[in-house]
Amino acid sequence: MPQSPASPPRLKVEHLSRAFGGTPVVDDVSLDVAAGQVACLLGPSGCGKSTTLRMIAGVERPDRGRIAFDGQPVSDGSLFQPPEARSVGLMFQDFALFPHLTVAQNVAFGLRSGRDERDRRVAELLERVNLVGYGAKHPHQLSGGEQQRVALARALAPRPRVMLMDEPFSGLDNRLRDGIRDTTLEILKEEGAAVLLVTHEPDEALRMADEILLMRAGRIVQRGSPYNIYNAPADRAAAAFFSDIN
Ligand code: ADP
Ligand code: MG
Repeated sequence: MPQSPASPPRLKVEHLSRAFGGTPVVDDVSLDVAAGQVACLLGPSGCGKSTTLRMIAGVERPDRGRIAFDGQPVSDGSLFQPPEARSVGLMFQDFALFPHLTVAQNVAFGLRSGRDERDRRVAELLERVNLVGYGAKHPHQLSGGEQQRVALARALAPRPRVMLMDEPFSGLDNRLRDGIRDTTLEILKEEGAAVLLVTHEPDEALRMADEILLMRAGRIVQRGSPYNIYNAPADRAAAAFFSDIN
């Protein structure tokens, strides 16, 4: 069901700032992501993408600004909810599965529900990521792409309101990446979380985003649909950033 225009966005970030040793790293960043939408924070290495994501996850404290999920503040002044209170799913480049647990146990890891409900959710997700029959295997028996899908299922299992992904595909073989991006996008859309995906690769943002937020030196310098950003970059630096894509 579409959200009514009056309801607050799933994720709202306002005037978020953070400095390290006096150097601003995230500087007045504001963004909205609706449930079911994928926003890509795109920018060169060191521009402050991961720090932004870490503040939204609740593992880094902002100096200033507000973060709200569905209109409820999770970080605002002295209020700072820890990650486990925020309903966020996390996926990083180094998505390490627990090697001693089976695939099914990895996916079930964050689930607090009773056994029947848990088993049902694990089965549903293994089907969704196309790993039916893999539940009893261990991570080392899986290919990189398969492990990546397990990590996705694990992150989505508790039905997070907000899914945060930091360069999740950069550890993968080039040949696999486009296919995995497409399947991941399909699964994210089915699950319906608000997704904020961080990447320094323009082609990834163009392929996956509903909205691209172009970031440079801690600030968001342009935002728009992939089509608009690609065709009308705001300045020379933005254009240069896209220039080696075909
Ligand atoms: P990106 O993810 O875009 O590559 P980051 O958010 O990781 O950028 O980092 C932005 C800048 O902030 C970098 O210069 C980095 O060295 C610095 N930085 C990040 N975290 C810390 C920290 N905990 N202490 C000091 N400097 C940090
Ligand atoms: Mg980073």
